Amino acid sequence: MNYSGIKKYDIANGPGVRVSLFVSGCRHHCEGCFNPETWDFNYGNVYTPEVEAEILEACAPDYITGLSLLGGEPMEPENQPFVLELLRKFKARFPEKTVWCYSGYLLDEHLLAGKLGPAEITKEILSYLDVLVDGEFHIKEKDLSLRFRGSCNQRVIRVKESIANNEIVHWNDEEGLYEPNK
Ligand code: SF4
Repeated sequence: MNYSGIKKYDIANGPGVRVSLFVSGCRHHCEGCFNPETWDFNYGNVYTPEVEAEILEACAPDYITGLSLLGGEPMEPENQPFVLELLRKFKARFPEKTVWCYSGYLLDEHLLAGKLGPAEITKEILSYLDVLVDGEFHIKEKDLSLRFRGSCNQRVIRVKESIANNEIVHWNDEEGLYEPNK
């Protein structure tokens, strides 16, 4: 996997101050994409064990609320094994911190349906996510007033509750900092 960048003090992609990883590779090719250079799976730098360790270290301070995964597309089958490994380590070390993930694929139609590579990998990744912002970016539904998403069609989803209830449970804008066990 390649990645285009890491933000160590990100306040734009989930509540609180977060560490954000932007992976490379995306097949959605949305019109008006904010980052079209990241469609190329070879864009940016190679994601190495040292990079993974750097991300985990950046997550350690108390003021870091959690980790956010963006792209590109973190859920492309090629990227999933690397994302999974990072999440396993992140959750083992920081069980109290949250994970947000941005994906153009839909939780119910694509991810839970196992349409993106080995279903057991996707399923384990989902088990570590607190919130998934899903759906492609639709330029005709772009709304700058939306929090943590770019277009109205995108959903901010509480993953664990959605899977447990077998229906989409939305994260509420008014919730402030997301507490996973609430
Ligand atoms: S899913 Fe995201 S990164 Fe991929 S084309 Fe759409 S807006 Fe761009």
